Amino acid sequence: MTHIVCLLAGDGIGPEVTSAARCVIEASDVDIEWVNLPIGKTALEFCGSVLPERTIAAIAGHGVALKGPVTTPIGRGHPSVNVQLRRRLNLFAAVRPVRSLPGVKTRFDKVDLVIIRENTEGLYSGLENEVVPGVIQSLKIATTVACTRIARFAFEYAVSHKRKKVTVFHKANIMKKSDGLFLQCADKARAPYADAVEYEELIIDNGCMQLVSDPSRFDVLLLENLYGDIVSDLAAGLVGGLGLVPGANFGEMCAVFEPVHGSAPAIARQGIANPLACIMSGVMMLDHLGETKAATRVRTACDAVLKEGNPEHLTPDIGGKGSTQGLVDAIIRAMA
Ligand code: NAD
Repeated sequence: MTHIVCLLAGDGIGPEVTSAARCVIEASDVDIEWVNLPIGKTALEFCGSVLPERTIAAIAGHGVALKGPVTTPIGRGHPSVNVQLRRRLNLFAAVRPVRSLPGVKTRFDKVDLVIIRENTEGLYSGLENEVVPGVIQSLKIATTVACTRIARFAFEYAVSHKRKKVTVFHKANIMKKSDGLFLQCADKARAPYADAVEYEELIIDNGCMQLVSDPSRFDVLLLENLYGDIVSDLAAGLVGGLGLVPGANFGEMCAVFEPVHGSAPAIARQGIANPLACIMSGVMMLDHLGETKAATRVRTACDAVLKEGNPEHLTPDIGGKGSTQGLVDAIIRAMA
């Protein structure tokens, strides 16, 4: 069966890592027809918009996309493309599996957790205004619909992936109403799963301390938008860095797979970006498409190359001396 997949290269290292992921996925013998689509700064230059309508329409139509990171100007300029994309396609759930990888030495060796982040509201609503000069207000939105939807998603995910526990990080001691609602919804949503999945609530500051002390005690983490964003990068640091953590955004109608990392402008076009996060996002996509055999083939090959630990095959972020292409070639050889 031929799958049609939208390919969004993005900015910075985006084109390098998406093209690496495409090469590896194609070598796994799945039949994919790629539809290249513009997004980000490059799209602005050529199409006059960071998120062209035809990009949205194609993802909505085909239902699946593999996306590279995009650059967002800081403190000025256009609103975040990612926030717009997730909102327009109602990609309400971000899923980020964070696991210790063979051969990648870190302080911890038994990390195996999944971050589930609410993707559509919280402080990412982008509702900010200047009340009077020198006073800015930024609105944090929490709705029963979105909080319940993400909580149900987390419990469903836990059950279907044979996970044992869901931990909610919150700050409902301070944000009693917004985080309070997030907690209430999680507590209500867990009822049907109570026999199968353990449930825990932790104030986020304590949660982060526990995460960096003993990450192996966590299984599935359920977080609102901003906490999910920050804790994703923190968790990436536990397993060797952003070059290694994949992600997916799910809505009712479509799914967009993308690495957790950003466009890393400082290393763009040097051929040294780690493609593994994007390749593993591609593995999540293959699973989603029902191509489990190909997904296992790619995952096993990535693990084998990491385990072998030949510095010539690994990128500098994980202690190697190699290049993006060198790592891609090694993974493809390991798949043979
Ligand atoms: P970043 O993730 O781009 O980089 C953080 C650090 O990790 C840098 O040192 C970078 O070199 C390193 N890094 C990231 N990915 C790597 C990889 N694959 N291989 C090797 N090293 C890697 O975060 P940032 O610097 O805070 O943000 C840069 C830009 O990316 C900003 O414009 C930001 O808005 C954007 N961003 C986009 C997304 C997305 O599109 N999903 C996510 C996060 C940040």
